[in-house]
Amino acid sequence: MSKLSVSLKAPNGRQYVQPTGLFINNEFVTAKSNKTITSIDPATETEIATVQAAGSEDVNLAVQAAHKALKDPSWKLLPATDRGILMTRLADLLEKNKELLATIDAWDNGKTYSEALNTDLPEAITTIRYYAGWADKTYGQTINTDHKKFAYTIRHPIGVVAQIIPWNYPLSMATWKLGPALACGNTVVIKAAEQTPLSILILGQLIKEAGFPPGVVNIINGYGAEAGPAMVEHPLVDKVAFTGSTATARQIMKMASATLKNITLETGGKSPLIVFKDADMEQAVKWSHLGIMSNQGQICTATSRILVEDGVYDEFVKKFVETVKDVSKVGDQWEDSTYQGPQVSRQQYDRILQYIDSGKSEGAQVATGGETLQKDGKGFYISPTVFTEVKDSMKIYREEIFGPVVVISKFSSEDEAIRRANDTTYGLGSALFTQNLERAHRVAAEIEAGMVWINSSQDCDPRVPFGGVKMSGIGRELGEAGLEAYSQIKAVHVNMGNKL
Ligand code: NAD
Repeated sequence: MSKLSVSLKAPNGRQYVQPTGLFINNEFVTAKSNKTITSIDPATETEIATVQAAGSEDVNLAVQAAHKALKDPSWKLLPATDRGILMTRLADLLEKNKELLATIDAWDNGKTYSEALNTDLPEAITTIRYYAGWADKTYGQTINTDHKKFAYTIRHPIGVVAQIIPWNYPLSMATWKLGPALACGNTVVIKAAEQTPLSILILGQLIKEAGFPPGVVNIINGYGAEAGPAMVEHPLVDKVAFTGSTATARQIMKMASATLKNITLETGGKSPLIVFKDADMEQAVKWSHLGIMSNQGQICTATSRILVEDGVYDEFVKKFVETVKDVSKVGDQWEDSTYQGPQVSRQQYDRILQYIDSGKSEGAQVATGGETLQKDGKGFYISPTVFTEVKDSMKIYREEIFGPVVVISKFSSEDEAIRRANDTTYGLGSALFTQNLERAHRVAAEIEAGMVWINSSQDCDPRVPFGGVKMSGIGRELGEAGLEAYSQIKAVHVNMGNKL
């Protein structure tokens, strides 16, 4: 066992060797910063493992490695089809190791093992497979401009890409960023969130095993305030892709402006879900429960603001509360019967409890929940919480809580529903429930959001673009649109003999 790995036994009995170094040039190395990050099991508040944390010198080494790999024939001249084959191999390796990776994400993040195995891992695997298919299907155009002139376009990679990801879906967020970047031939330095540093290091091992040349993907852990700016401000970084809080996104935008770096940002939301009175009530309740209570409510697209039409409001609230009590079983990550595990960290736990206190003190009614549910005084457990009698001016109605807390409010006309759905600085997800086809599409067109779910919530597919408007972000991930963010077009004008 090297000093850059540690043998671990997870609470589900799974034993494995966890790498702990920074993954630079296909090797695990010690951080020159002398800093480390210790990962905590949010269910027991005990330490899992300590990993190396990059400082600016380490970030520089990772960026230099990516810069060199960009020019190296082993990557630069690799036929696009072979790039796709490497990615397919990576997807196969993720599939082969999915139980291990799901174990690590459940342990590190607090999400249930079944959610990690049945949602996160399939999403990660299909995203890499989907973009593997694109690797040799992105090309330029020929444009006729004159009988003796034409132009053609070439699609180039953007270059060295710095990717900064959050902790709510550790592995699948990594693949959303790596998939299009690699398909387009970029090289990458990717940083995991401090709360979930572990599974991405196994991904590093698999990248090497798949056969990617050294330096194409460099993986670092590091503190946001130190490693983050070192990545964003590095002169050899050509693009920054970020998912996380709006506050950090604003800082990144400012830092990236110094060198006019290409950026894509995916931040949070306060996504509305509208239930019209002609909705299939049972389906509306089930989907809206999933839309806020799955993944401990730690979902950027969580439909956390439910607007229900007069006439069915009381019925909806009653059924929603019953569903929370029946389905949202809170417990440790490993039990099959658990729907909701602990929140990721003490900081998030405290933050959510502050919002619950604020809702209570501003006069909203707690229909269920509103408490902590620790086991023997340990674990970041919060009972799933439903607020009614909510005013649009309240903090819990306006701000992203990022936990299992929902507000339910009443409306009385379609115009009012649209106006209040759009009355937010955010614009990421949105959902509406109705059996009236015309209304469904009319309202979908009016909602200011990057995504609308008609009669569902949280559907996500690598083929479908994902991203926000207003303060929910810039640019799109996933789908063909995701490729736009990772390639740039050069126009070549050809003169076939026009004389001046
Ligand atoms: P954050 O924005 O601080 O962290 C996200 C990532 O950004 C992490 O990798 C972090 O290390 C990095 N980072 C932090 N400061 C940075 C900086 N100055 N420069 C560059 N990178 C930096 O988010 P958080 O503190 O983990 O969570 C706070 C809130 O953010 C949550 O409560 C939630 O509202 C929101 N959030 C949203 C998402 C999402 O998917 N959109 C994910 C996580 C958190």
